[in-house]
Amino acid sequence: MADNEKKCLVCGRDEEQIPLVELSFRGVKYYICPQHIPVLIHEPNKLEGMLPDAENMEAG
Ligand SMILES: [Zn+2]
Repeated sequence: MADNEKKCLVCGRDEEQIPLVELSFRGVKYYICPQHIPVLIHEPNKLEGMLPDAENMEAG
């Protein structure tokens, strides 16, 4: 994913299509749509390949 590309890291929709929430992780900015925020919260290991070390994150 290119820097500064405002797209949901899960579904790839951009801010023209859906409101995006910005998050930063290890100095890199990512965007996620409201629909996929629960994935980040409850099942972050499903973001493997989308965020670094996501497979090692524990749901909290
Ligand atoms: Zn999404």
